[in-house]
Amino acid sequence: MSILIVEDEKKLVDILKIALKGERYSVDVAYDGEDGLAKATKNNYSLILLDIMLPKKDGLTICRELRAREIHTPIIMLTARGSEEDRVEGLNAGADDYLIKPFGLNELFARIRAVLRRRKKTDSDVSKVADLVMDRKKHEVTRSGVVVPLTPKEYKLLDILLSNYGEAINRRKLIDHAWGPSFEETNNELNVHIKYLRNKIDGNKSKSLIHTIRGVGFILKE
Ligand code: CA
Repeated sequence: MSILIVEDEKKLVDILKIALKGERYSVDVAYDGEDGLAKATKNNYSLILLDIMLPKKDGLTICRELRAREIHTPIIMLTARGSEEDRVEGLNAGADDYLIKPFGLNELFARIRAVLRRRKKTDSDVSKVADLVMDRKKHEVTRSGVVVPLTPKEYKLLDILLSNYGEAINRRKLIDHAWGPSFEETNNELNVHIKYLRNKIDGNKSKSLIHTIRGVGFILKE
């Protein structure tokens, strides 16, 4: 689980960083709005903590721009402004929740867990890692904007790899997802299909996304 903090108050960032790392989240930081938007667009975070008052670009604008670009990473707005109007504005901009400063760390953790839980249920329609995009509504995969035609098995394998981005998926889990739990391999089917999938996704690209974890299975990561 990775969290991006977009916040210009260095002291608060330091506290959040230590606290979140203590909860075993990996943490990335942007100290101004432009850097925040760039990082949120380029990387695939589990969640973004987004301050409203920021240098270069404010949090509400960032939130709107991300949603306009079909980036649906969960966002919790951090705001010193607690009026109802401000909170409504944040939620209208596409934020999932908000926290009013100053807030306690336990409340922050509880909100993060709640947002991630909610998000898991709705499951996002679009997954994006680097320039690889899966749009589940359209049932379409693109890399660098070019459609990659996949067989149903390849699509299912990529789907589970993308849904668990950055985590090693063991062979059994991949087979269960693509063939079903009663399937037993007879001809190294998983490796064969992963090989086809890799050729299509990574074949002529300088940056490979699908990697083998020897003795375990596969992982999709940058
Ligand atoms: Ca601020």
